Amino acid sequence: MIHEVLETGGSPTVERANEISERREDIKRRRALRRHFLSRAEVFRVLRDPSLDGPRREAYRGDLQMHSEWSDGSATLKDIAEACRARGYAYAAVTDHSYGLKIAGGMSMAEAAEQRRAIEQLNAAAGDGFRLLQGIEANIGADGRLDLSPAEAATFDIVLAAPHSLLRKADDQTRRLVNAIETPHVRILAHPRGRMSGSRAGVAADWDVVFRAAEQTGVALEIDGDPARQDLDFTLARQALEASCLLRSTATRTRRPSFAMPRPRWHTRGSRVSAPTGSPIAGRSTACAPGWRSRLESAGPGARPTDARAGRR
Ligand SMILES: [Zn+2]
Repeated sequence: MIHEVLETGGSPTVERANEISERREDIKRRRALRRHFLSRAEVFRVLRDPSLDGPRREAYRGDLQMHSEWSDGSATLKDIAEACRARGYAYAAVTDHSYGLKIAGGMSMAEAAEQRRAIEQLNAAAGDGFRLLQGIEANIGADGRLDLSPAEAATFDIVLAAPHSLLRKADDQTRRLVNAIETPHVRILAHPRGRMSGSRAGVAADWDVVFRAAEQTGVALEIDGDPARQDLDFTLARQALEASCLLRSTATRTRRPSFAMPRPRWHTRGSRVSAPTGSPIAGRSTACAPGWRSRLESAGPGARPTDARAGRR
């Protein structure tokens, strides 16, 4: 079978076994849930392609999506700040889950206030150019509303919105995502589909409409680099890019800041950190990212993303 796959990319032996299997319908369904995922081998092949000129590791100045021990991550704020500093970042945002997602240890607003004080203490103690920001990953409800009120959202430096429910429904959820994107204070639509290889297809939507809304509001779209998620996938990422959307990449569930390289999945709960390199998507994303970066940079050192975007609404 291995020879068959190596020589032809498929296995007639496996196909014959599937045909007579009682589980063939389930196999078909699961195979559909693995479509549009790049395999580890495919990713390495792309990374080795010299014609793809992506951003280098040094080009990344910060990260805007990481979970700490304050929700479902395992890293402390200090671990995150030190690891990001070691990588040469100028800023990083801790973006723990908000209170609407209890299952992921979502923070209450009282805990968020406490976390804010801890972050400010860390920044004050370090006194260098690096700045830790306080973000939040808000949960998008069925109607597209966030689990944070506008006043609550305004207390964070950066607000990400992400779907964590209705991820196995085939019904169109365009309105839900557009509502979330158009919510004041939202800066990033995180893991836009919430899909999982072999398990769930994630949100179904008219992506052209979603991307247009993101482009018009300047909301960035996350590319979740977790090999099992790849969300947005490479085809949707290209579509988003063609719609002039801002993209940002992350590698979820890594022990420490890491590139969005394929690797065996760690089973610990950990921080999620960006830093794409070399991949075709990452390469294309830089073409898109400068607007976002320059807005951050033009606001000066230590600027909060919310300050940089204050003119939006
Ligand atoms: Zn999430």
